[in-house]
Amino acid sequence: MRITHCRACNSPLVNRRAHATTCSSKCRNVVWRQSKVTMIPEKIIFSIANHALVTKAAEAAGKSINQYVHDRLTQSIEC
Ligand SMILES: [Zn+2]
Repeated sequence: MRITHCRACNSPLVNRRAHATTCSSKCRNVVWRQSKVTMIPEKIIFSIANHALVTKAAEAAGKSINQYVHDRLTQSIEC
């Protein structure tokens, strides 16, 4: 039998549920906090023409408008 390890403290997970990923509620909270990304909502106003362009581009990319604008803005800032 393969022994898995806690995702937070890496201790072996013995005598745990088969699909357990952490050894304790404390470690489960650590993993949850690490996975949580804090997002700050921001309003962006487009002209109707630009909104149509952004909507089309988001649909072409298979993303929501929010995700598309977020990705484009963060890409342009990171470059
Ligand atoms: Zn642990």
